[in-house]
Amino acid sequence: MPGRNHLFVPGPTNIPDAILNAMHVPMEDHRRPDFPELIKPLLEDLKKIFRTEAGQCFIFPATGTAGWEIALTNTLSPGDKVLAYRFGQFSHLWIDLARRIGLEVECVEVPWGQGVPLDRLEQRLEADSAHEIKALLICHNETATGVTSDLAGVRRALDAAKHPALFLVDGVSSVASLDFRLDEWGIDVGLAGSQKGFMLPAGLALLAFSPKALAARHRAKCRRGFLDIQDHIAQNADGYFPYTPSIPLLYGLRKAIDLLLEEGLEQVYARHARLAEGVRRAVAAWGLKLCAQEPKWYSDTVSAILVPEGFDARDVMHCAYHRYHLSLGAGLGELAGKVFRIGHLGDLNELMLASAITGTEMALRDCGIPVTPGSGIAAAAEYWRETAPPLAPRR
Ligand SMILES: *Cc1c(COP(=O)(O)O)cnc(C)c1O
Repeated sequence: MPGRNHLFVPGPTNIPDAILNAMHVPMEDHRRPDFPELIKPLLEDLKKIFRTEAGQCFIFPATGTAGWEIALTNTLSPGDKVLAYRFGQFSHLWIDLARRIGLEVECVEVPWGQGVPLDRLEQRLEADSAHEIKALLICHNETATGVTSDLAGVRRALDAAKHPALFLVDGVSSVASLDFRLDEWGIDVGLAGSQKGFMLPAGLALLAFSPKALAARHRAKCRRGFLDIQDHIAQNADGYFPYTPSIPLLYGLRKAIDLLLEEGLEQVYARHARLAEGVRRAVAAWGLKLCAQEPKWYSDTVSAILVPEGFDARDVMHCAYHRYHLSLGAGLGELAGKVFRIGHLGDLNELMLASAITGTEMALRDCGIPVTPGSGIAAAAEYWRETAPPLAPRR
């Protein structure tokens, strides 16, 4: 098939050529004497992405799902009560995993399309004067619904109630794309995966632990073997890993962090916000609605778009893929068939995203969904033009 496939699922994301090239390396000995020259700065610089100075980062050869388990088993004991909110497929799966490893989950159901209800959270924490809740499990950016929750608000609720619960955050589709501040927001564990904002293949679970979360491992009785941070703590100190790391992924991560820091994290966040707003303008121009119910929940990394009653979002995706070589994200769990998703995170610019908007528009029309031809892409393009950075003078 001539031309390239247009990848707009919210992970894996597009990999910049600079990272692809950086990963194209011959294998080497991971116990060589100068290996720490790669690993020690890598672990230090990863802290900058999680925005922590006090904490410690870990790199596991795994995915975001393992990150959930690493966060839980290294800080908690079987039977511990944890409080979690279910508002999409990813928050759902984390809750399911927590139950499977023997935690007692108090699960609060929230309509899919909303995020963490801060008023209810604060009330619940106030009521827990015996401090039975040992941890909060918060999915920062619910990738299934395109909803971002207010982590600073969660921290304020914890502080207002003077509650000592650990604050555990799934940042798989937010870290390195959305504003995320481990130290400032008092997050105890932040976890991410390599294939989203980090612009890498899947294969690394990336975590940051606060000093409080690190200390919790001494009391935490959850069974852990491969996923025990203790083995990493022992080996990372000298710049090694307790088992064979994926060398290409480590070189890729080095390059990804360099690219993110070169652009500047604030700039990375602003780019995501601006690109996302273009997508939202297109959705509005089509006369369609986001799954996210209010602007305060809108995610700058993924938009879940509802198809009108009587249509199946799977037809839109099928058409987009087979006719226009455009991969859109599927509706997950109870949203199957009701939404399709446009991922807008990672290595992206205006015209890359324009291909997704144009292809979506074509597929919508092909499926009989009445959108005005050119309306979505015009709205996005005008927004991006109006908000474009000033031009340097022509030489
Ligand atoms: C993608 C994703 C996960 C799962 O990560 P895997 O790498 O597929 O295990 C977890 N949480 C969120 C919010 C995600 O977007």
